[in-house]
Amino acid sequence: EKVLVTGATGFIASHLILQLIERGYEVRGTARSTDKAARLNEILSAYAGKPVAIEIVAADLNTDEGWAEAVKGVDFVQHVASPFPSETPKSADELIVPARDGALRVLKAAKAEGVKRVVLTSSMAAIAYGWGDKRPDVLSEVDWSNPDNLEDNTAYTRSKTIAERAAWDYVTGEGAGLELAVINPVAVLGPAMSADVSSSLQLVSQPLEGKLPAFPKLSFGIIDVRDVARAHIEAMVRPEAVGERFICGGDVLWMDEMGAVLREAFPDRKIPKGTLPNWLVRLFAQVNPPLKQVLPELGKKRGYTNEKLKTLLGIEPIPADEAIIASA
Ligand code: NDP
Repeated sequence: EKVLVTGATGFIASHLILQLIERGYEVRGTARSTDKAARLNEILSAYAGKPVAIEIVAADLNTDEGWAEAVKGVDFVQHVASPFPSETPKSADELIVPARDGALRVLKAAKAEGVKRVVLTSSMAAIAYGWGDKRPDVLSEVDWSNPDNLEDNTAYTRSKTIAERAAWDYVTGEGAGLELAVINPVAVLGPAMSADVSSSLQLVSQPLEGKLPAFPKLSFGIIDVRDVARAHIEAMVRPEAVGERFICGGDVLWMDEMGAVLREAFPDRKIPKGTLPNWLVRLFAQVNPPLKQVLPELGKKRGYTNEKLKTLLGIEPIPADEAIIASA
């Protein structure tokens, strides 16, 4: 059977591609340009320790071109691509439009081709934001972010919520008959195959490179990229996954707890120690507007359940310390 993985150059997608190949699937990928194909296959081969050569079709989430060709003859689509920049864009639409319209382009092409199932990479961003003070202590898959409340949403969290909503609306309306399953990962860590992937790895690279004086009192759910890749495959093959979304998360750690893991594993590095007082983070935020977005999270732990991940997809998450050290 053949699987299309969109955004093949990304952190999660590259692990997904190798695991799919390992499980006997034929894989095609999309990238914004086919120029990236040779380098990608080199990276995949180096990590796998054997030659890997997947076919790459050029397709951009912002345009129609390429998507029909990309889905041609595939049984399943793993729609992983979505803009995930480390800096906030000038206009939220720079993220929202490609995330939402790109998901719809992929779903429509899949439907037209008679693809069996699409698995979409959404995010905890589509669950945990815009609640004001009403956020449940333990979030689950029935919960949705409110992308209209701008207090704690970023362009990115809004783009993920709006895109996932649009995907469900499509398969329950015009696209009825196309199977959809959705994975909602928390912060993804674990081994990267190249240095220029996912913004989430900055959680580890910044303290490791001495770029933080101390840690803000922020907490993150952590999941290893290898578990995220597996979750995508289980959601593709298990009949009971259809129509479901899955929180894909393991332990929740404070940033200074992540720092402690790094300090123990890399005693030669100057990893910051201690927590910044909240008033100081608030002060910094006045001169560094992107920081404003985290202020509502200061001192709070965003709890969630991962029961569905464990029971329906059979995944017992890799411990956070292993994921952190593997990222480092
Ligand atoms: P990466 O930044 O490594 O991957 C993002 C991928 O999306 C890249 O392959 C990128 O391609 C592609 N992409 C971005 N914009 C476009 C576009 N306009 N057209 C086509 N492709 C595009 O990050 P991750 O692997 O972490 O992210 C993969 C998915 O996982 C995303 O949907 C992200 O939202 C989601 N996610 C990630 C989490 C994390 O902590 N890492 C947590 C929860 C969800 P290019 O190489 O051309 O830039």
